[in-house]
Amino acid sequence: MSETQNQEKREFQAEVSQLLDIVINSLYTDKEIFVRELVSNASDSLEKLRHTQLTENDVFEPDREMEIHISTDEEAGTITFEDFGIGMTRDELHENLGTIAHSGSKQFVKALEESQQKENSLIGQFGVGFYSAFMVADEVEVFTHSWKTDAEHLRWVSDGKTGYEVETAEGDQHRGTKVVLKLREDAKEYAEEARIKGILESYSSFVSFPILLNGERTNKIEAIWRKQKSEVSDEEYNEFYKFTANAFDDPRYRMHFSSDAPIEINALLFAPTENTELWGMGQMEPGVSLYCKNILIDDKPEGLLPEWLRFLRGVIDSADIPLNISRESMQDSTLVRKLNRVVTKRFLKFLNSQAQDDPEKYKDFFEKFGRFLKEGIVSDHDHKEGLAKLLRIESSMTEGGELTGFEDYLTRAKDGQDKIYYLSAKDRSTIEAGPYLEAFKARGIEVLYFYDAVDDYLLQNLREFDGKSLVSADSATVELDEDDSIERDGEILGEDDVKSLSEYLQEELGDRVEKVFAGTRLVNSPVAALTPENGTSAQMRQMMQAMNPDGDVPEVKVELEINPRHSLVHSLAKAREDNPELAKLVAAQLLDNALLNAGLLDDRKDLVSRGFDIMEAALKKS
Ligand code: ADP
Repeated sequence: MSETQNQEKREFQAEVSQLLDIVINSLYTDKEIFVRELVSNASDSLEKLRHTQLTENDVFEPDREMEIHISTDEEAGTITFEDFGIGMTRDELHENLGTIAHSGSKQFVKALEESQQKENSLIGQFGVGFYSAFMVADEVEVFTHSWKTDAEHLRWVSDGKTGYEVETAEGDQHRGTKVVLKLREDAKEYAEEARIKGILESYSSFVSFPILLNGERTNKIEAIWRKQKSEVSDEEYNEFYKFTANAFDDPRYRMHFSSDAPIEINALLFAPTENTELWGMGQMEPGVSLYCKNILIDDKPEGLLPEWLRFLRGVIDSADIPLNISRESMQDSTLVRKLNRVVTKRFLKFLNSQAQDDPEKYKDFFEKFGRFLKEGIVSDHDHKEGLAKLLRIESSMTEGGELTGFEDYLTRAKDGQDKIYYLSAKDRSTIEAGPYLEAFKARGIEVLYFYDAVDDYLLQNLREFDGKSLVSADSATVELDEDDSIERDGEILGEDDVKSLSEYLQEELGDRVEKVFAGTRLVNSPVAALTPENGTSAQMRQMMQAMNPDGDVPEVKVELEINPRHSLVHSLAKAREDNPELAKLVAAQLLDNALLNAGLLDDRKDLVSRGFDIMEAALKKS
């Protein structure tokens, strides 16, 4: 290649320019994070090299130290990060340092577009990788040589504004990457050794390669997950979390355990403070790395933990895993499956004890991360019961906003109660205004309240807890004892009248009801629409509609229960003979009202116009 061909000048991809513009102009005070970002890139590149060496014999400069060298030069106003890792080819330079390849920065740009938040606080939550160098430098040079023996020695340079240039570089050349930052006037402090030493202190001990600052070793390598709990301070744990998760918050929970059987494990897991999926930023990527005796095998192994645990961060280290296990064979590995089962079970147990020890803290966790647990119940048969224990729900016996769980529910169940009752609707007041609760309240039976659109689906998957089936309180299959202690007003309608009224209603309402019957559950309401055993619940229909607005929704099928003590039912029985026209209207209106209460009335047109007709008839009479 001639020299001119070797020199390429390119513009940054639009997203990079946008990102750089923010990075350069932001007033973000925590500028020192660039040290962490560049050291972490250097460490990644050494890890990648270590992996490459497992399968490739022909590596450029095979004996070069696996180290990170940082040097500061106060006079020149520069700081340099050098690693002897995997390096980059020309194509990789364009790909990695000219576009936004990595998900963290991508998420950052996306969040910026969608968020009203000030960009400064957003930088704090994401980190912007390599480009953070431009927070402190007005020129960045990258010298690199890929591990491939026939690769070029290259120089990349940019001012972070107008684009970048790539050319072949002269001079002494090593494998790996050297990043030279020409510091801005207001950032010259980062050319001072003491300043950098201070920054490195807090977290560099987690970097698993030696770091040398101006020739002097700054870190001793520690795998804190293999230490005893008593040997690690809270600060160290938090720093490690930030390091390993590339996070900026503190962890909400941490679980550190080791075990020898059935498999040797040292695990240190963290649940973050924030669930970024709630911010509409797409699925989190799994973040628990797999190690074998301190050596990283894979930083995002698939199948190491169930997908619904993708919010966890941290490390699982097992001496039993072969070092050179490939990504492909990982998922089929019995050992990995065993790890998965043991760690997941352990984590669920851990959460359960947290929920007992500090219910308020757990409640906050559940509000933010409960969705993952629900996803687990639906998708992960092995851990259903353990997960179900962790659900938190409002109920007819909690105050609004307070939560309970299935286990607590069972401690309050009535003698001989072999079912767990629930109702689902969009909120508490809708459930409490409906006709279904009264029979349970009158008998002192607790009903759980579910509000989430996915809950009905969840409950259908779960079906039971601790051997007790979960039953919707609006289901026609519910059988409640006739309880004499319940105070009921009004005379009960005679058996014959009930029978003929039921037949009349069945005839009037035709296909719209499967069955009409007089029951014992209603106390204050005249009627209620019940979901038959094979019927589709209101929540389920809503979910189907939301998922596929143009698709067919199953027909509404209900059983209509009438309350033989209610005066309206008495009056209707009478009106059939005295005022058949009005009786017809009332019959139809009763059903529509019941459907409306059940969330099953798709079309309210008739309800309204018929309502006017009934009002008119009532006023005429008076
Ligand atoms: P991230 O490290 O989160 O992927 P960065 O913006 O920091 O994002 O870096 C982008 C990409 O550039 C990296 O994924 C990596 O492929 C490459 N890269 C950065 N620094 C180095 C380095 N020191 N050695 C080799 N490749 C690097």
